[in-house]
Amino acid sequence: MIIVMNTQATPEELQEVIDWVESQGFKTHVSKGEERAIVGVIGNDRPLDSAQVELMTGVERTMRILEPYKLAGLNVHPEPTLIPLNGLKVGGNQLTLIAGPCSVESREQILETAHAVKEAGATALRGGAFKPRSSPYSFQGMGLAGLELLAEAHQATGLPIVTEVMAPEQVSLVAQYAQVLQIGARNMQNFNLLKAVGQTKHPVLLKRGMMNTLEELLMSAEYILSCGNSSVMLCERGIRTFEKYTRNTFDVNAIPALKARTHLPVIADPSHGTGHWEYVGPVSLAAVAAGADGLIIEVHPKPEEALSDGLQSLKTERFAELIPKLRAVADAVGRKL
Ligand code: PEP
Ligand code: MN
Repeated sequence: MIIVMNTQATPEELQEVIDWVESQGFKTHVSKGEERAIVGVIGNDRPLDSAQVELMTGVERTMRILEPYKLAGLNVHPEPTLIPLNGLKVGGNQLTLIAGPCSVESREQILETAHAVKEAGATALRGGAFKPRSSPYSFQGMGLAGLELLAEAHQATGLPIVTEVMAPEQVSLVAQYAQVLQIGARNMQNFNLLKAVGQTKHPVLLKRGMMNTLEELLMSAEYILSCGNSSVMLCERGIRTFEKYTRNTFDVNAIPALKARTHLPVIADPSHGTGHWEYVGPVSLAAVAAGADGLIIEVHPKPEEALSDGLQSLKTERFAELIPKLRAVADAVGRKL
């Protein structure tokens, strides 16, 4: 349920409503708009007696929330969530541009890429140190050594680091080195992991599982939000379909469909979404046109030598060439890059 306070409600009346709702065993989430406050009532499935709430001074009306996600939805939180990152705000007018290799492979590789993507205009650096690979024989990532190299790249460039955390017991370690914790597609419904990142204050980049609906993605975000971490960015990275010419099918629909339901920023990943570097540019432009708040793009100085996802990685110069095109589309839809 959400409780809409009237425009004349005093802070004391609002507090009385909050105290009463909490005394009934529910949690509250207050959103203060310019004109009025909205109190989200979060709890178990047992409904609160709306007639009783509506009798309280300062209350205008109550509404039931029909969606299974509450904190992620627009009812409780109508304003877009802005997540501070490196002096910018993810979800704000300016697009977030996260770029870097699929995996951290060496000191030279990550530093060269970090400098190049920064030069081109990236606002954050990506790179996996713990890699979720389909085969146990594939490169599994550099682990702690990779995190240390990412920290060095952060020191050298100032770019915040986005890197994947694969297990609850890794969260505190990865959080010491990275500014943003990535939850990979394969872990979107690893509920213990979601609860663990929910207990940190780090922004989380939550990727859509390759076989998950948008509602399931929002419910996974709800896990993180309900643990007290309100900084969640959703990421569309393509889903599995019958199509074979691309690795995944980038679901451009996901962008407006999520934006219509949630205040959380939506980031597009055209690299995993397509699986081919030639398609990354066009799909990036489409994602920005569709209203994405940012992009996460795989970039490698020598894609042919990459230990993972070389086929879908842009060479650094190709990444730089994409920026003016992205800027033109961003301008056309009222965004900045
Ligand atoms: C990645 O970002 O390199 C990655 C493994 O992505 P996903 O979880 O979307 O497959
Ligand atoms: Mn990858």
